[in-house]
Amino acid sequence: MLKVAIDGPVSSGKSTAGSLLARRLVFSFLDTGLLYRAATLAAIGTSDERAVVSAVGRARIMVTARPGGSATITLDGQNVDGSLRSPEVDRSVSFVSAIPVVREQLAAEQQRFAETGDVVMVGRDIGTVVLPDAEVKIYLTASAETRARRRHEEHIAASNPPSYDEVLSELRERDRIDSGRPISPLRPAEDAHILHTDDMTLEKVVDRMAKLVEAAR
Ligand code: C5P
Repeated sequence: MLKVAIDGPVSSGKSTAGSLLARRLVFSFLDTGLLYRAATLAAIGTSDERAVVSAVGRARIMVTARPGGSATITLDGQNVDGSLRSPEVDRSVSFVSAIPVVREQLAAEQQRFAETGDVVMVGRDIGTVVLPDAEVKIYLTASAETRARRRHEEHIAASNPPSYDEVLSELRERDRIDSGRPISPLRPAEDAHILHTDDMTLEKVVDRMAKLVEAAR
């Protein structure tokens, strides 16, 4: 079983590149951000940390592996894909993911997933905390402006899309919280390969990652 851990800041391209890599290698793919988003959805409407912990503790967040494809995530038996990337979830997710009990609960689910076979997992702390023994660790990054532009393009199809400036400031704020939290902060593992993707096409990023996996086999 081979584990590929990909970490990086908001909109660094890790989900798109990671899922294409998984498809190419016929590995199962998990975007762990979606678990934190499902937990945030379960906690929407709660006002303080204690209420969030209890709402997330009661929620049944389940992940099912699909070799060559993205894992299916359900919240209380429902497929919630359509709601996970909403601006409302974007605004609260870093607050929910900084809570240690929430992280423990979701990390256990991620480690179970990694036992199902060959996997590509993307997130913030996969190479450092969730899978410290992953055979391949990659840290994808790009400037805040490049990342905001990508994120803004994703939102354009929505009915009430946020402006580029709103996306940029929300992204900087999330990076600040994700990098500054005491538990599992966003940072590259010491043995991670760091790829700056500003001037790389998606295809090139996937090719580079595939070569790293080949070298590790
Ligand atoms: O990757 P994405 O932007 O969807 O992740 C949403 C949020 O979930 C991040 O901003 C971060 O707060 C949290 N997250 C995390 N650890 C992970 C994956 C995501 O804290 N492994």
